[in-house]
Amino acid sequence: MFGKLSRITQAVSLADNQQQVLDLIVSKVCSELGVEVCSIFLADHQLNQFVLKAAQGLNPDSIGHLKIDFNEGLVGLVGQREEPIHLHSADSHPAFHYVEDIREEDLSAYLGVPIIHQRKVLGVIAIQQKEARPFEIDEETFLITLAAQISSVLSDNETDQLIEDELSPPLIRCINGIPASSGVAIGLAKVVFPTIDLSSIPKRIIQDVPKEIKKLHKAVKRTHLQLEKMSNRMKGLISDQELSLFDAYQQILGSAGIEKEVEEQIEAGYWAPYALKTVINKHLKAFRSMEDPYLRERAQDIEDLANRVLANLMRKETLLFEPQENTILVAETISASMLAEIPLENICAVVSLKGSSTSHAGILTKALGLPAIMGLDPCQINRLDGKQMIVDAYNGQIFISPDPELISQYEKLITEEKALSADLEKEHDEPNLTRDGTKIELLVNSSHPIDFEKARQSGAKGIGLYRTEIPFMQQQQFPSEATQVQIYRTIMQGFEGMPVTIRTLDIGGDKQLPYFKIVEDNPFLGWRGVRVTLDHPEIFLVQLRAIFKASINRKNVKIAIPMISTVEELDASLRLINRAFAEIEGEITRPDEKLYRPKIGIILEVPSMLYQLKSVAKRVDFISIGTNDLIQYLLAVDRNNLRLRNLYSHFQPPVLKVMKQLIRECQQAKIELQICGEMASDPLAAIVLIGMGYRELSMTAGNISRVKRAIRHFSIHEMKQLSEQVMRYETAAKVKDALLQAIDKRGLGGLIRAGH
Ligand code: PEP
Ligand code: MG
Repeated sequence: MFGKLSRITQAVSLADNQQQVLDLIVSKVCSELGVEVCSIFLADHQLNQFVLKAAQGLNPDSIGHLKIDFNEGLVGLVGQREEPIHLHSADSHPAFHYVEDIREEDLSAYLGVPIIHQRKVLGVIAIQQKEARPFEIDEETFLITLAAQISSVLSDNETDQLIEDELSPPLIRCINGIPASSGVAIGLAKVVFPTIDLSSIPKRIIQDVPKEIKKLHKAVKRTHLQLEKMSNRMKGLISDQELSLFDAYQQILGSAGIEKEVEEQIEAGYWAPYALKTVINKHLKAFRSMEDPYLRERAQDIEDLANRVLANLMRKETLLFEPQENTILVAETISASMLAEIPLENICAVVSLKGSSTSHAGILTKALGLPAIMGLDPCQINRLDGKQMIVDAYNGQIFISPDPELISQYEKLITEEKALSADLEKEHDEPNLTRDGTKIELLVNSSHPIDFEKARQSGAKGIGLYRTEIPFMQQQQFPSEATQVQIYRTIMQGFEGMPVTIRTLDIGGDKQLPYFKIVEDNPFLGWRGVRVTLDHPEIFLVQLRAIFKASINRKNVKIAIPMISTVEELDASLRLINRAFAEIEGEITRPDEKLYRPKIGIILEVPSMLYQLKSVAKRVDFISIGTNDLIQYLLAVDRNNLRLRNLYSHFQPPVLKVMKQLIRECQQAKIELQICGEMASDPLAAIVLIGMGYRELSMTAGNISRVKRAIRHFSIHEMKQLSEQVMRYETAAKVKDALLQAIDKRGLGGLIRAGH
């Protein structure tokens, strides 16, 4: 059965569009299983109907026309029950619904399986045969496996279809993603290609055909020359047989070959890169479907060659990119260097197919105040190029080619946002006090001096979290001690006289250094944070020395160690910290220089630490709760997994319980406690946390004034009552609803966007 399945999925992967996928599946299922009929119905959720989209063995005229209500017939039953239905004789079942003219009369046995993606029924695949015999158990499991496999293909296709389908009624075409930097923007998408790759080339129509053909000739000529050079360089190093590959490349490229075909595509009106893509895809398909493994392998050569031509074609294209006003930057992976290269004045939002809110680029977008969504439902982003879009980075939604009504709703929201920001600015000089005058320490999570100004203006009284891996990411190699001293000094100077918490290197998980890649099967549970730095004392010690050097004559520096999960790790870290401190202390010779011992703490983000608090409290001066990771480990939910987005919530009752337990125990142990995870940035959560007893919250610069506004409207007593109330609830939804109501009652609803 496995062979049958893989033959089908292989065939499907070569299909160009959804219809081809479906047609291939029904015909292959019939031939592989030897059944007379295979049909696929897809759900139309607007009309509550299943539509017959592909069939083998039924009347072909009914394809696209036969529609069955969600509560009708066997198809409806499979959809409703969300489980397979297996019948020896379909027409004797009470749900059987006879439809004229589809040629079902002689059929008896029926097996229908729902196609479900992320709990949503996308359709039903069914097989039927004349003989009234039960299908084999193997056939049933085969169809279930196939349905599960094609569900993601269909759902990707659904998303792509939405993008492509400009002529469909103004349905809301929406792609979901993970919000990385909040805000809303309306603009035109521009897809950029960091690494040039054929699959990411969008379709573009050109007017000037001769100019485009000239570009092609130049690129091909350049490629010929490069191949020649390569071949010469390789002579003597590789065998003659391997060398002949370069000749083969030259031939394939030659004017009678691919170049001619690409020219024809350009003449049809496409820009050269897309023309190349079309031609190459055709050849690839032919090669990949060949039985001979040697010839199948040649597909890779064709692809390689095409990418070389493409690189030559695109050289200018990438460099020439000058964003127009209100451009939404879209890429497969937006990198920090890309953000640094492109002039950002006209960029109004950023969308990255892959990535996460905690990636360097994600953090930079926050610092820049650019709405950003990183990590999308799978789709071909190149199809977004040139489309008008709304980016709602509060709710993690992108609306493609939105209708005027939706645009005007969002325009209103943007106006309200601007008004709210202006209004919040008026309170910048107000102290961070609750309604009854209790002081709350609001600090900033910052990794870039770019947002210091904004943070100070909004009332940040120091840096609660400085992520050192961010400056490490901007280097080509591990930065020297001197370079690091410079970096940390700049940070400390930005908040002179105020507390500055420097977190030691936290790489691994989703944070990679370009020059020190960590590749693991399970990176969030792997070699990350202090686990890496303890294994590399030469890196850890240089960093610690640099922090101490930068902190000479400063009393407010704090050091936090990430990802501590055992007391042994903590002890080992403290030994290195003490050693570096003693070294720098010993190196000071000038009388006007004094080294103060910084407060040392841990980032509490591994649940095992909840059960070792006393041991921790004995050893360190403070604990800073990293709720981003703590929630992910507590709930076993990958913080960057879009599928699990609804599960990852700081309002989950166990999260609240843990936060309550932590404050209670830390108060008993008399150890300083603060929060530096995103939870503190949410005004709703901040109220609950203050109600529990927290007094130090560190957050992204953009959220300080919102949190400040919220806490100024509640007294400690009111927040305590509210937190006690929500702690009694059993679901995150109930907690959130109650908090929304409470905040709304005080006219603060505008501080919260629906999806926060
Ligand atoms: C956290 O885990 O909450 C935290 C602050 O660290 P990071 O987001 O950098 O992992
Ligand atoms: Mg963390």
